[in-house]
Amino acid sequence: MSDRFEGSFTQQEPIPEDGITAALDVMRHGRLHRYNLADGEAGDTALLEEEFAAFTGARYCLAVASGGQALSIALRAAGVVPGDPVLTNAFTLAPVPGAIVAVGARPVLVETTEALTIDLDDLSTQIAATPAARVLLLSHMRGHICDMDRLMAICDAAGVQVVEDCAHTMGAAWNRISSGRHGLIGCYSTQTYKHMNSGEGGLIVSDNAPAMARATLLSGSYMLYDRHRAAPPQEVFNGLTLDTPNMSARMDNLRAAILRPQLVSLPERVAAWNARYAAVEEGLRNTPGLTVIERPEVESIVGSSIQFLLRDWSAAAVREVVARCSARGVELKWFGDETPIAFTSRYDHWRYATPRVLPRTDRILAGLIDMRLPLTFSLDDCALIARIIRAETSAVWQARTARSASS
Ligand SMILES: *Cc1c(COP(=O)(O)O)cnc(C)c1O
Repeated sequence: MSDRFEGSFTQQEPIPEDGITAALDVMRHGRLHRYNLADGEAGDTALLEEEFAAFTGARYCLAVASGGQALSIALRAAGVVPGDPVLTNAFTLAPVPGAIVAVGARPVLVETTEALTIDLDDLSTQIAATPAARVLLLSHMRGHICDMDRLMAICDAAGVQVVEDCAHTMGAAWNRISSGRHGLIGCYSTQTYKHMNSGEGGLIVSDNAPAMARATLLSGSYMLYDRHRAAPPQEVFNGLTLDTPNMSARMDNLRAAILRPQLVSLPERVAAWNARYAAVEEGLRNTPGLTVIERPEVESIVGSSIQFLLRDWSAAAVREVVARCSARGVELKWFGDETPIAFTSRYDHWRYATPRVLPRTDRILAGLIDMRLPLTFSLDDCALIARIIRAETSAVWQARTARSASS
């Protein structure tokens, strides 16, 4: 048999040396809690917030314990209360409906297009059918950004606030506007498999002062919000402090110290991801039976993973492709599987979200293949991976075509 790929699809890059030095400093002085500050010290968490606000162009930024906590806090800060319906993508990761359920609200799932984005026609239908829904939790799943100009026009006209889940779009943009800056609030994750790595962690950005004051109080600021540097002015907190519960979801200085140098190098890493994405995409183009997802020109992507469709293939044939690639060291994830495997759970696995049947999403997920592109892969690795996928997909496709021609 021909060549095999030997790399690991889950191996991220190490923490940069300046991040390790900064983390050691925090451990040496011992002030890990964000509000534990020496005289005149800002603390890494507050500095990270200030730097991430500048990076996204947002007025305010808040660092929290995880991406999922960022989503729950953002929903509450946007005014979602228990029992509310919250619109969201059917194609996303489980922490998204999880964040809605965590605040006692009810997910209303919206269909998916072949571009893997939220179906804007179905969104309009669901908004009309659910007048009580005041918030859309929009997930830019796997980094695919929908037509944000049209989405915002639909939501603005209906008075629906948009909270963006940018777990896969930190560093991405639509029409030159950073992902996370179109709606009311943008949420990011700094969990190991995202675009900055602190193990766990999250960031929230917004220009809306009352929403960010509520978010700050919700994150567990006690009455120490004056120690933030990217929070709204003190007077915005007046009147909110006694009515906003403490959800205890702060970031700590150790994680922030690891993240600050990664933010500096993020643009470089985005370019490195996109070069890898382009190498795989190029190698997969014009493979019979395989559909590459075309990216609109106005979308600036972060190619930390790649998706393609085996459109309308039988489950058995998709399984065969996945098995043959796996035998050659290429780990593909299939979103069509009956049972949830690792990250690839499907909307109908979220029983707590009481999903309705979504035929268009079902058809897409049945043929949807996903692959991570960690920066530990070289461009040659990416070309080899694409050759393997191309060869194995073509072999299964040709065998099927030959069988149907002879029958
Ligand atoms: C990872 C992820 C989250 C949640 O982030 P955590 O930091 O793991 O809580 C939310 N949405 C999507 C699409 C994700 O991939």
